[in-house]
Amino acid sequence: MNDILNLTIRQLREMLKKKEISSMELTNYYLGRIRKYDGEILSYLRTTEDHALKMAGQADERISRGEDAPLLGIPLGMKDILCTKGIETTCASNILKGFVPPYDATVIKRLKEAGFVHLGKLNMDEFAMGSSTENSAFQTTKNPWDTTRIPGGSSGGSAAAVASGLCAGALGTDTGGSIRQPASLCGVVGIKPTYGRVSRYGLVAFASSLDQIGTFTRSISDCATMLGVIAGHDPMDSTSITAPVEDYHSFLGKDIKGLKIGIPAEYIIEGMEPDVKRNFEESLQVFKDQGAELVDVTLPHTQYAVATYYIIGTAEASSNLARYDGVKYGLRERGKDIIDMYKKTRFKGFGKEVKRRIILGTYVLSSGYYDAYYRKAGKVRTLIRQDFDNAFRLCDMIATPVSPSTAFKAGERLEDPLTMYLSDIFTIPVNLAGLPGISIPGGFDSQGLPIGLQIIGKPLDEGRILQAAYVFESEKKVRVIPDKYRS
Ligand code: GLN
Repeated sequence: MNDILNLTIRQLREMLKKKEISSMELTNYYLGRIRKYDGEILSYLRTTEDHALKMAGQADERISRGEDAPLLGIPLGMKDILCTKGIETTCASNILKGFVPPYDATVIKRLKEAGFVHLGKLNMDEFAMGSSTENSAFQTTKNPWDTTRIPGGSSGGSAAAVASGLCAGALGTDTGGSIRQPASLCGVVGIKPTYGRVSRYGLVAFASSLDQIGTFTRSISDCATMLGVIAGHDPMDSTSITAPVEDYHSFLGKDIKGLKIGIPAEYIIEGMEPDVKRNFEESLQVFKDQGAELVDVTLPHTQYAVATYYIIGTAEASSNLARYDGVKYGLRERGKDIIDMYKKTRFKGFGKEVKRRIILGTYVLSSGYYDAYYRKAGKVRTLIRQDFDNAFRLCDMIATPVSPSTAFKAGERLEDPLTMYLSDIFTIPVNLAGLPGISIPGGFDSQGLPIGLQIIGKPLDEGRILQAAYVFESEKKVRVIPDKYRS
């Protein structure tokens, strides 16, 4: 059975079709692993065993009828920021405790149509604000490569569950790096698609102009499979792109001869861990050996990206989170009048980091400061986007590190939000520009901790990113599950 962890979803689908395994067996296999290991990893906030077994039974019936769908019978986990009909959805926040959505997010609907089995809801930083999953109101997920370390964030539960084999794949969200950074720190594949490629309907909003749903998988093939299911236009999301979805699998196996890969000078920064730098250089050599051409590019406004993000992101968050007032959702505290009830509910329901962002965001939007901060940040965002437009005139895609460091120790950066914010320097510009970016396993540091490689593409160029990522994966063959979790 342990071979299962090495098989791609496509290979599992073949086995299911040939009745070499049933979805029920596969689902029980993952549920058993969750029981065995998740007490230590703490990736799931709640498993949905009953749902899973029911869905597995239905999948087996559909398979018996000869039906085919890309995820039919495949057990997956979902970040707890995605609305799931009838299943509590908390965003790892006390303020949403007990909230059971009456509808499914579009991505969940699509996964259901494709036949997936829902294993449960995965831990995250509260409202996706953070880089370590330590801001969850409920538990801190551990990094499977070293459980004294954080898995990254905010989609840390998704990354850790995929890395330790507690699901075949997972969904996460990325506003400033929340898919790519935890994927990098846990040594799995994580893609943030082009803004608008995947519908945000039913995704609890953090910063609406930056949020995007994407996938966590153990292989590029699985990334192509899952992205192919969730991508596509949705009339329920007005920012959703109408362009047809490409067949992502058709890009896998194509060579990269003559492909131009841009290397931005601004992404080799002081303070970057030497192992991360060394690994990045080795990774570039792999592309070179496969016939790609490396070209120097410049993204001169990179240094302003983090500041810009923390103005735009907090401004949008302060507005989006205004809806949690104790009336419609989750927690309600008693108060002497309605204003008092709002205050008490929000005081008790939100954690420290969320409050910090609401206060920052309210400040940058307030009259007198709006022009100085919010409007200006919008202009800098345009400059950052133009940097990428200019760079893409010289190259087909851009390669960079994902994070300046590997997984850090739990607790290490909790009292130092600025260091935590600054570590998103390589991922944030991609969200500001709305571009697709992937993190793929690049290797390990001297302590055996995973290091990711980021490939950034032109808008809607997910297919070509996957093409290059697949070549890299096939050449480098980086181990994806720690030995400890193989048995
Ligand atoms: N770490 C970043 C933040 O704290 C990004 C979060 C995200 O992408 N959701 O905002």
